[in-house]
Amino acid sequence: MTAAYTLGSLLYEGKAKRVFQTDRPELVAVEFKDDATAFNALKKAQLAGKGELNCQISARLFELLEREGVPTHYLGLQGRSWQVVKPVSIVPVEVVIRNVAAGSLCKQMPIAAGTPLEPPLLDLYYKDDAYGDPLLTDARLARLGLLNADQRAELERLAFRVNAVLRAFFAAIGLQLVDFKIELGFTAAGELVVADEISPDTCRLWDLQVADASDRILDKDRFRQDLGGVVEAYGEVLKRVQGACPEPRIYG
Ligand code: UDP
Repeated sequence: MTAAYTLGSLLYEGKAKRVFQTDRPELVAVEFKDDATAFNALKKAQLAGKGELNCQISARLFELLEREGVPTHYLGLQGRSWQVVKPVSIVPVEVVIRNVAAGSLCKQMPIAAGTPLEPPLLDLYYKDDAYGDPLLTDARLARLGLLNADQRAELERLAFRVNAVLRAFFAAIGLQLVDFKIELGFTAAGELVVADEISPDTCRLWDLQVADASDRILDKDRFRQDLGGVVEAYGEVLKRVQGACPEPRIYG
């Protein structure tokens, strides 16, 4: 069998992934790394196995979203820690949806951690490490000219739809989706799709069966807060996701 594509040069290296060109302009390859970073990369570690776990979790969640009619950049898995995706032009906006107050929200606002947020809160941040990913206002977003009004509305619609799908899915496997961050991008055809990754690096997930406020954490807060057992927690998330999803497709 001939390979579906040949790997080309490195296009971009981020904190948790490398993106490679291929000999086919309609495909790029993404490698999930074991590097863990937090607090704008002030805290760093290598966590053996994390890349593979995030790749495998993310693949299944992208396929779930596709089945529910949410477009994503995902095309298929390629090996344990690689995905083949559509090239997109990433919108430099981190879209965060919060179902329960946690993290930066509680540091910046008089809202106690654990407060349910109904309706869920949507926060947009300008994705630029040099500026510390600041919270965007509507006026600042308009001033930056990153999205027109229709694109902005579509971005919010997709984000709330992602929340509805993921929240119900995680609840069914005993996990509370506290909050998450997604990134979206425009394909060559101009379609806005969910890109990047969806994993315990980018979601807060609490075990619904566990009452203890630290023990229930199954996401990157274990790394941020030095709780230990990070890879084990991600492994538990994959085990539950695997149990509720079909095997993801292999590209090619
Ligand atoms: N998040 C992320 N990347 C970022 C910032 C946040 O994936 O650069 C995720 C984070 O894991 C959490 C959600 O977005 O699930 C909300 O994060 P928050 O704004 O509370 O920031 P943090 O507590 O990470 O400083």
